[in-house]
Amino acid sequence: MVLTKDYSLNGLMQFLDLKTLDIEICDVTLRDGEQTPGVVFTREEKTDIASELDAIGVEIIESGFPVVSQTEKEIVKEIASMGLNAKTCCLARSRVSDVEAAIECDVDFVSIFIAMSELHLKHKYHKSYEEMFGLAMEAVQYAKDHGLGVRFAAEDGSRTDIETLKRAFLAAEEYKVDYVSIADTIGILNPSTTYYLVKEIKKIVKTPVCIHCHDDMGMATANTLAAAEAGAKQLHTTVNGIGERAGNASLEEVLVALRVQYDIDRYDTRKLTGLSKKVERYSGIKPGVTKAVIGEHAFSHESGIHVCAILEEPRTYELFSPEMVGGQRRLIVGKHTGIKALKGIVRSMGYDLSQEALCTLIEKVKNSAETKYGISSTRLEEMIKEVKGT
Ligand SMILES: [Zn+2]
Repeated sequence: MVLTKDYSLNGLMQFLDLKTLDIEICDVTLRDGEQTPGVVFTREEKTDIASELDAIGVEIIESGFPVVSQTEKEIVKEIASMGLNAKTCCLARSRVSDVEAAIECDVDFVSIFIAMSELHLKHKYHKSYEEMFGLAMEAVQYAKDHGLGVRFAAEDGSRTDIETLKRAFLAAEEYKVDYVSIADTIGILNPSTTYYLVKEIKKIVKTPVCIHCHDDMGMATANTLAAAEAGAKQLHTTVNGIGERAGNASLEEVLVALRVQYDIDRYDTRKLTGLSKKVERYSGIKPGVTKAVIGEHAFSHESGIHVCAILEEPRTYELFSPEMVGGQRRLIVGKHTGIKALKGIVRSMGYDLSQEALCTLIEKVKNSAETKYGISSTRLEEMIKEVKGT
């Protein structure tokens, strides 16, 4: 195993025959993330999130779905005119009127989507594949005629017959779309099927492929990376993994994995925790405490063995440093704290206790009712002062 400053490298990666990933991130927090039940971002919140995403170095920001409302349209337009380094895009159904709205917003490209799975054709559109595909290409042609970039997106692509999908993407390529996109709308893919699907599509289309994964089986991030390994160019993410149902591949997980496993270090990961907190506040959705990268416990340690090792060398129990993602390490004092670990923690807080005082302190800690939830550093400081008799 190789140790670097911020994180550990897994030597196993060298045994995989991987090409350097040629990827870009399209963050869809402002569109798919806002489709999370109960989430509505204000204009200020949306522009703030867009600025933060841009500062991190995300290449594309999907800023909304203009036909949803006049306000939404104005915000999409505003984000497109903010002078960001990131390109902006927005969503459109396969309707010329939706594309017109995108043109008015002055985005770099529009994502025109249709579902081609039998389930969606039969129960959502009540139309044949030919009919729907015709409408989609009409919208694509309209966008192209007006100089707008186009992503042709297959909603429910992961449940669409693969030959149908290939046929549609090949036909769309004739219209000179800029991207073809596979949406795992219901999160049915796993890393192996994702890899296979993207590889199959890459065999027949030259247009860059996008991957949009949902987390219904907890595999959205893994699937997104598998797609990248298979040659997908554009990876879709949301901050904190918010989105429809179980959400999307999370930006923080994908960026950290790209850095730690695939050596892509152009994104400013130090801003991830700050952005996560903002999106938590704006969306009202608190990520789980054990959530990777940004969860409250992502850098928390309580067990005596772990804390002792961490105090000597953090990489013993941390894959990457909290500083790398703008987070903070927390050493929690509780039921599992050993005397050696406690000594280290007390010392790191600037106190020096005798062995006897430490023994009294550990008794106090273990008998405290607060131990169930972990003792805060303020409470621990009070206890230290009690033990010292000051
Ligand atoms: Zn989605």
